[in-house]
Amino acid sequence: MEQTLKKLGIEPLNAGTFDGSWSKVSSGTQISTSSPINGAELAKIATSTDEDYERVIAAASDCFKQWRTYPAPKRGDVVREIGDALRDNKQALGELVTIEMGKILPEGLGEVQEAIDIADFAVGLSRQLYGNTMHSERAQHRMYEQWHPLGNVGVITAFNFPVAVWAWNAMIAAVCGDTVVWKPSEVTPLCAIAVTKIVGEVAKHHGFPALFTLLTGDGPAIGQRMAADRRFPLISATGSCRMGRSVGETVAKRLGRSLLELGGNNAVIVLDDADLELVVRAVLFGAVGTAGQRCTTTRRLIVHNTVLDKVTKRLVEAYKQVPIGNPLESSTLMGPLVNEQAVKAYQQAVARVAAEGGEILYGGRLVEGAASSLYVMPTLVKANAGMDLLKEETFAPILYIVGVDSIEEAIAVQNGVDQGLSSAIFTSDLRKAERFLSHAGSDCGIANVNIGTSGAEIGGAFGGEKDTGGGREAGSDSWKAYMRRQTNTVNWGSDLPLAQGIKFG
Ligand code: NAD
Repeated sequence: MEQTLKKLGIEPLNAGTFDGSWSKVSSGTQISTSSPINGAELAKIATSTDEDYERVIAAASDCFKQWRTYPAPKRGDVVREIGDALRDNKQALGELVTIEMGKILPEGLGEVQEAIDIADFAVGLSRQLYGNTMHSERAQHRMYEQWHPLGNVGVITAFNFPVAVWAWNAMIAAVCGDTVVWKPSEVTPLCAIAVTKIVGEVAKHHGFPALFTLLTGDGPAIGQRMAADRRFPLISATGSCRMGRSVGETVAKRLGRSLLELGGNNAVIVLDDADLELVVRAVLFGAVGTAGQRCTTTRRLIVHNTVLDKVTKRLVEAYKQVPIGNPLESSTLMGPLVNEQAVKAYQQAVARVAAEGGEILYGGRLVEGAASSLYVMPTLVKANAGMDLLKEETFAPILYIVGVDSIEEAIAVQNGVDQGLSSAIFTSDLRKAERFLSHAGSDCGIANVNIGTSGAEIGGAFGGEKDTGGGREAGSDSWKAYMRRQTNTVNWGSDLPLAQGIKFG
C-alpha cells in the first residue's frame, strides 16, 4: 500500500484544493481516509476553505476564457496526452482504487481502463462536435446550428467509481471547451488527488493549469454550494437519489442545468427458455461484483416459476464458491464494503427480511475472522414482489429472488420500483427479447439481452430514468449536455422576408 501511495505522490498530509497549483496544507480542516481492507489510515487531507472555493472558481473561469478559444481538435490533443498519462499510471491508480474503495484489483484496473477509454473516445469526438444544417423557408437564407462551450462544469462524484465517473464527465467536457471543477466523495479523496496530480501536469504543460481543478470537503457542504452557484452552468452529480433530489432542486431554482446519475434498483429477468449457464455467471458478476456497490448491481432476480428452483439452487452453489478477502489478492472475488455505514445498511436490510415475508437462503452475516469488520457475506433472499425492501437500493451484495408466471408479470415487477437504471432479460426467444426492449417493456435507461445489468461500455450513453435522474454520460451524443446550442440564420440576399410569410409595414 505504502509503495502505491508513494508512486502517486500521496503524502501523509495532502492539500485537497487544486486551482492550477496545490493549496497550502495548513488551510482547512483535516479529514482522514482509511482503507476498508484492514481499517488502516492511509493519509490526511486538508479540506477546501471558503477562500479556496473562490480561488478555484476564479482560476477555472479565467482558464475557460482561454480554453474555449483553443480549437476543439487541439483540445483533443491535450486529452490524448491525458489518456497516455493515465495509461502510464494505470497499475498504481488501479491499486489505489482498490486500497481506498475496496473493489478487487481487476475491477480497480478496469475502472482506470474506463477512464483511458473515455479519453480515447473524447479525442475522436473532438473532431465530431457536429451541428445540423436546415433548409430555410426563406430564399437566400442559410440556417444551421452550432455548439459552443458552456463554461465551468461542476462534477460531484460518488465513492464507488472514484476515477471513472470523473473521467466520463471531464474528458468529454474538456473537448467541448469547458473547464471542470471536481468535488469528489469524502470517502475516496486520495483517488481524486492522485488523478488531479496526473492530469494537472499535462494541462499545465499546455498552458491551461486550471483546466481540471479540485475541491474537497468532509460532507455535502461544498457540493451544495456548487449547486447554488450560478458560475456553474452545468452541475453533473453522481450519487444517491437523496443527493440528486437536493442538487436537482437547487440547480433548477437558479435555472441552471443538472445532469443527474443516481441510484439504481436493477433487475434481471430469467425466462423458462434461458441459458442458465449464462444466467448464473452474469448474475454472480452483477450481484457480487464490487461487493454489490455498483449503481448497476443486480439487486432483483425475477425468475419464471418453472425454473425458479433450479436457478436458486445453482446460485446458492455458486455463492458458496465466492472467495471473499483482501481485494489486492488475485484469488479474491469479493472485497469489503466501503465503511461501517455500509455494513450497517446491509445488516438493517437483512434484519428486515423475515418480517417482510422473505427468507435468507445464503449469507446474511459478517464474514468470520476477516481482516476488518467490513467484510460481509454475499446474500441470497427468497422474496416476494410486495416486499418494501425490494423497492429500495441497499448498497450491498443482497440479491432478492422473486418467482413469476409470465413475461408480462416479470416486466411489471421489474418496472414497479422508483429507480430506472439498468435491466436485463435472459431468453432464447427473439420475440420475448424484443417485447422486453419495446416501448412497453423495460422502463430503464439500460436494457440488455442475455448479458447482466452491470459492466457497461463507454461507447453508449449511460444513465437511467425516473428517480435515477434522467442524465446521460459517456458515449453516443451525451456530449451535447456539456455544450450550448446556438441556431443561426444568415441572410445573404438583399431582401428581408419574414418567416411564416408575415408582411409587416
Ligand atoms: P452520496 O449521494 O452519499 O454522495 C455522492 C456525492 O454527493 C459525494 O461527493 C457527496 O459529498 C455529495 N453530496 C451528498 N449530498 C449532497 C448534497 N445535498 N448536495 C451536493 N452534494 C452532495 O452517494 P455515495 O454513497 O457516494 O454513492 C453511492 C450512490 O451513488 C448509490 O446510490 C449509487 O447507485 C449511486 N451511483 C450512481 C451512478 C450512476 O451513474 N447512476 C454511478 C455511481 C454511483
